[in-house]
Amino acid sequence: MTHNAHGVRLIKPSDAASWASCRRRAWLDMHQTADFEADAFARLLSDAGLRHERRILKQLQNEYDVHHADSFEHTTILMQQGVPVIYQARLMNPDVGLVGFPDFLIRHESGRYQPADAKLTQSENKRGLQIQLGLYRRLLATDLPVIVFLGDNRTAVIGDEIDAQVDAFLTDMQQLRRQPEQPEVRYSHSKCRVCPYFAHCQPLFASREDISLLHGVHGRSAEHLAMSGIRTISQLAAYDPGALPDVPHLSGIKRKQRAVAQAQAHLQNQVIQLNAVELPAGHWIHFDIEDNPLTGTRERHVYLWGLLAPPYTHADFDYVWTDHENEDYAGWLAFLQKIERYRNAFSPVILAHYSNHEKAVIKQYAQRYNMTEQSTVQWLLGKTHGDSHGPMFDLQKVVQDNLVLPLQGYGLKDICKHPQLVNFQWEDETSGSQWSIVQFNRFLAETDPAERQRLKSALLRYNRDDVTATHRLEQWLRNRFVS
Ligand code: SF4
Repeated sequence: MTHNAHGVRLIKPSDAASWASCRRRAWLDMHQTADFEADAFARLLSDAGLRHERRILKQLQNEYDVHHADSFEHTTILMQQGVPVIYQARLMNPDVGLVGFPDFLIRHESGRYQPADAKLTQSENKRGLQIQLGLYRRLLATDLPVIVFLGDNRTAVIGDEIDAQVDAFLTDMQQLRRQPEQPEVRYSHSKCRVCPYFAHCQPLFASREDISLLHGVHGRSAEHLAMSGIRTISQLAAYDPGALPDVPHLSGIKRKQRAVAQAQAHLQNQVIQLNAVELPAGHWIHFDIEDNPLTGTRERHVYLWGLLAPPYTHADFDYVWTDHENEDYAGWLAFLQKIERYRNAFSPVILAHYSNHEKAVIKQYAQRYNMTEQSTVQWLLGKTHGDSHGPMFDLQKVVQDNLVLPLQGYGLKDICKHPQLVNFQWEDETSGSQWSIVQFNRFLAETDPAERQRLKSALLRYNRDDVTATHRLEQWLRNRFVS
């Protein structure tokens, strides 16, 4: 049910995620729903969420008599009967125009019911999730906390602390429901590029030269700049950075200089170099990992540790692959052994990667297997006596510290695929980090050996292209920006 008897669109707890992400998205959901098909990654997450819900259902069934509700009336009858657990409950509050379907209602020792939901996430602290759970309490008109069964097998509870945010959500959603015009918002690269309404909103931002389109310029900064009369990218590009007002997220001179340079780079479609690029001397080995977050334990399994050593041909691509998370430890040890071989063969080694992810994962693995004092780990993390840096070198940091690019995102693909920048193209142009998670989960589920091999080969090609891309990026930096 989406509308009440008077044709008014009902508010659902699941609207909270859209609303917490962007008010316009919540408005568009109510007034101009986008006709979009969930992609393979969204379907993979949805399937994993359903499996998690079924796991929790089974656990509850082992302990309680669980009854499946099939309508609003049936939910009411089951509650009146006082059954221990109601599965897929259906609840409505016509006064507020609210309808919701908590996964479970669990009978509390007081005889009242407590809402409970199974969520694949490992964090109970996300705002949208907390409001959604708080709305189930509102639908039940209970002061008992709501239970959430999280993806990492923890159980959390959320109580009165979320009430103020639930009130704010309901008030604003009722206002948005009445409002005929979409609300004004700012662009957010991380949210907008994955939003189903991107094609609707992007041309509006572009036609207004909205400052929030610029990489590194926060929506709140754009709001405050607009109050000072700086509304467009052209206006910002012409500004003296020292004369810019202090606004949220944009108060120091370095940030202001960067914001003005970003506006200029955008308008001129050119790279602006802020400082000389310095690259360390040594034998460069390019490094990139692929991991699967959807494991049974929710600990990421790095199934592919990829490396590209001199002279950087396709034949020089080297890797450690493991078929399943139960080989995780063996894969980690094999990676460390491989690193030791490169360390001996290519000293001094520069292990180049893009973003902090690779280093963070090595730290996680060292802790996971209690190996923080192991000699190769110590060397990788720059903890060996007399070596304060270690071999790992983050190319993204070099780019961000020294260059301003005519781009909205500074991801490896943003820079490498751009024809006027590195201009390196991946063999499979649909590949990407979400694509790789989908392919690996297909590999796990596949029983046909030939199809498994095909999926594995595609993932190896993708990782080989990733490390080749970081090598091309290194060359581009050397040729154009190293003095
Ligand atoms: S594209 Fe961006 S601004 Fe538009 S609805 Fe989506 S998140 Fe909001």
